[in-house]
Amino acid sequence: MYDSIVRNGTIIDGTGNPRFVADIAIKDGKIAKIGQITDPATNEIDAKGKLVTPGWVDIHTHYDGQATWDPLLAPSSWHGVTTVVMGNCGVGFAPVKPEDRDFLIELMEGVEDIPGAALSEGIDWQWESFPEYLDTLESIPRAIDVAAQVPHGAIRAYVMGERCNTDYAPTQAEVEEMAIIKVDLSNRDEAIKTLKVEADAAHQSMIDAVERAKVASKDLDELFAHRDFLKSEGDRFHNEFVAGKEKADEVHQKIVKMMDEVNEARDKLKMARVERESWMSDHNDSINKMMKTGAESEDVANALVDTLLDSGTLTFGGTMDGDEGRVVKRGSSRKKQMRRVDVSASRTRK
Ligand SMILES: [Zn+2]
Repeated sequence: MYDSIVRNGTIIDGTGNPRFVADIAIKDGKIAKIGQITDPATNEIDAKGKLVTPGWVDIHTHYDGQATWDPLLAPSSWHGVTTVVMGNCGVGFAPVKPEDRDFLIELMEGVEDIPGAALSEGIDWQWESFPEYLDTLESIPRAIDVAAQVPHGAIRAYVMGERCNTDYAPTQAEVEEMAIIKVDLSNRDEAIKTLKVEADAAHQSMIDAVERAKVASKDLDELFAHRDFLKSEGDRFHNEFVAGKEKADEVHQKIVKMMDEVNEARDKLKMARVERESWMSDHNDSINKMMKTGAESEDVANALVDTLLDSGTLTFGGTMDGDEGRVVKRGSSRKKQMRRVDVSASRTRK
């Protein structure tokens, strides 16, 4: 059993969805169901051929006076308005000193064309400060919600008196007093309420920040999880990971060793060259003779290398700079290798 059911209305839900026909059931002041409703309700309303919509919020009204005596706030409530905002255009009735009441009514009448006679009849002035005015509003049962802004015309009148209605500029002290009234720090409860709202908002934003941090760290965790997955998920991946690293280390060691060998060979080759120069100067005559007789001949050149090798002065049996194409020993592939190694080592050693 629902409290109320609005039947067969054309619903426009305010979200931008297309309109549709349905019933709306209400229980304990809240919408309990939308659709085809067969259950009964204490109060049934036939809305066939009518629109059923969320309540309208009218953000610009001047109900400041009427709100103190009319619980219905007609005609706005007749039109589907469920919340009105008042205190617009700087006109309203609080804060107010007794001697300024008529002035504020005249101001409202002058600016908004609301009959001063009705306001004088209706308002009973149970307040002076703005919070007291809010207390009065709160004490009246009402059909729709009201939101009250502090009207700056009333503040100016409260602080400047008659001078408020002239071009006379407020003094610095008056400006400061108006600022205090606007914030209304004189009303402790209101100030505490405001502070509490601000504190709650700050607390909430802190919680939000923590939540965002959690989400970010979750992303980070996922990244680490991917890494850990490769390292640890199944021995398959793990072994590949380790094997790959071992292989890489092995290759690296080989390269290091190779470079050592290359460098060593290069040094030896240099030394051999020096020794050859020295030997050649010692044996100039015989070399010249050999060169003359067969310098262009491979056999003679190889014999020369053999001599060098046999004498131990050319320990690697390698070719030397400038000798390419002339000194080619049998089984010469090793010598050629040595030459290549020498060249690449020179490049590497720059
Ligand atoms: Zn206005």
